[in-house]
Amino acid sequence: MPPRSPSEIVPDAELLTEDEIRKENVKAIMDIMFPTALDYVKWLARRGLIANKLLCIQCNIYCSFTISRDSRDGHIFRCRLCSKRKSLRHNSFFSKSNLDLKQLVVIMLCWANGRLQKDTAVEARTSGHTMIDWANYCREVCAKDLIKHPPLLGGYDEEAESPRIVEIELSEDLMRGKRQRGKIRDTRWVLGGVERKTGRAFIVEVKEMHRKSIISIIQENILPETIIITNDSDVFKDLDKVSNGIYQHYTLDGQELVDETDSDIHLNSIRSLWLRTRAKIREQCGTVEGMFASYLNEFVWREQHRNGDSDLFSEFILCVRRQYPV
Ligand SMILES: [Zn+2]
Repeated sequence: MPPRSPSEIVPDAELLTEDEIRKENVKAIMDIMFPTALDYVKWLARRGLIANKLLCIQCNIYCSFTISRDSRDGHIFRCRLCSKRKSLRHNSFFSKSNLDLKQLVVIMLCWANGRLQKDTAVEARTSGHTMIDWANYCREVCAKDLIKHPPLLGGYDEEAESPRIVEIELSEDLMRGKRQRGKIRDTRWVLGGVERKTGRAFIVEVKEMHRKSIISIIQENILPETIIITNDSDVFKDLDKVSNGIYQHYTLDGQELVDETDSDIHLNSIRSLWLRTRAKIREQCGTVEGMFASYLNEFVWREQHRNGDSDLFSEFILCVRRQYPV
């Protein structure tokens, strides 16, 4: 009698925890070049991006992980009682794709590392159109992650025994520069904030430009007890009275600042964020007005993880595995 096929792709002991994935530090495509399709299957299973084993709900036993010449991934899960077959990609981020798992791993790495779409298409041996789709799927993952884990800046710093300082400002011209090519665009206002010391940031599109909606964006993104620094614009007036005084508020008052120590009243951090945002948004979404919010989400997601201990590829893998439990 031939030995029964295993039910697991890799032994449970080889499954990586979130911390282990964070520490991986995969930077180059070379690091994810493996000889066989099965290696990619195992690589994804270890990181929880495809199921390591699959229960047949009807028979209440684990399916066999078995070779299948006619399946795209070379293997499938098959129930040995009812013979039902399931793709290894069942419920995964990749379930609707026609690409090889190898191509998909390469695309995720290149996207996380901010490679240009045309270069990624070459590396992954796929078309430009497919790459545009996959860049959109990747951005959707970031957008959902931001909704679930908004940056939430400020609050009280127990270690420093002082409130954290957050600079906020409105900006209307993230797409400026593109207008000069003869296209008239609607003015798009965004509200941004940067926490000093950590550089953590949020940027949110302001759909209605009045005080009430600005205040609600601030409360959604900045914790109580924060020192907020703004310019003298009317929309920020009386920020220190919001919810019976949960914030301290300082304004620029129009004065030129000489000293640049961190406790000073300046907006250097947020202005430096605008410079980076503008450059990036202009480079990416010059021609695609409808993509503005999507690119903004990608930018903020990258900013959020920019100064963290782990790289963006690891963080992206963790987002995918949280959003596509297998
Ligand atoms: Zn079954």
